[in-house]
Amino acid sequence: MIRFEQVSKQFPNGTFAVKSLDFEIKKGEFFVLIGPSGSGKTTTLKMINRLIELSKGWVWINGKKISDYDINELRWNIGYVLQQIALFPHMSIAENIAIVPELVNWDKEKIAARADELLKMVGLDPKEYRNRKPSELSGGQQQRVGVIRALAADPEIILMDEPFSALDPFSREKLQDDLLEIQRKLKKTIVFVTHDMQEALKLGDRICLMKDGEIVQIGTPHEFLTNPVNDFVREFVGIRK
Ligand code: ADP
Repeated sequence: MIRFEQVSKQFPNGTFAVKSLDFEIKKGEFFVLIGPSGSGKTTTLKMINRLIELSKGWVWINGKKISDYDINELRWNIGYVLQQIALFPHMSIAENIAIVPELVNWDKEKIAARADELLKMVGLDPKEYRNRKPSELSGGQQQRVGVIRALAADPEIILMDEPFSALDPFSREKLQDDLLEIQRKLKKTIVFVTHDMQEALKLGDRICLMKDGEIVQIGTPHEFLTNPVNDFVREFVGIRK
């Protein structure tokens, strides 16, 4: 569904953020990008929805180059969740969830029903929460709304950049479980950035470990645990020799 072919990114200051990336993400896959800070994870993620333009190579979605998509069409089909809770403070929870569905002209009833359905999915009673302002929710609840907002217009792909790293361990675990449940139900293709190996092992169908802008290993959690390709992977997974 998503294919990187010989993709490199060099920023104007000369930094090579990623070099010659080649990999594929399958439809419905939970794909985790992991690596130390500065290894190129966020750059890789943001090239998918063209928040960062690549310098060399091609990214394909559903067999079409991303440069050939209308940029709005591309972004409407890709939900995006950030670490920072980015709900609009002056809008209610329901209004926040409605932003993208309204842009793509869903009718009001369909949007309201969708918002309620998604709120229920993450354990927030719609009657109680839909009219609240973000400030009337806890951090964990706000981030839950951030996740379902990305799902609202039923995009095929969800990009998530360390979405849970600012949360307390309890909220974090709850949201990880919710996300796995959502993934099982809705079969979205998810690209998820983290630097936490435990999180990657728990969530990923496959994990892509990066270092200095290059891929060190791609594989299932089982392959990482049983067959790490080198000492860097071993150390990252926390296996002692
Ligand atoms: P990660 O998400 O793994 O922490 P990034 O993709 O953010 O890594 O960054 C990869 C490299 O690219 C780092 O060396 C970073 O400093 C550099 N970089 C990221 N964004 C920019 C930018 N806008 N301009 C110049 N260099 C950048």
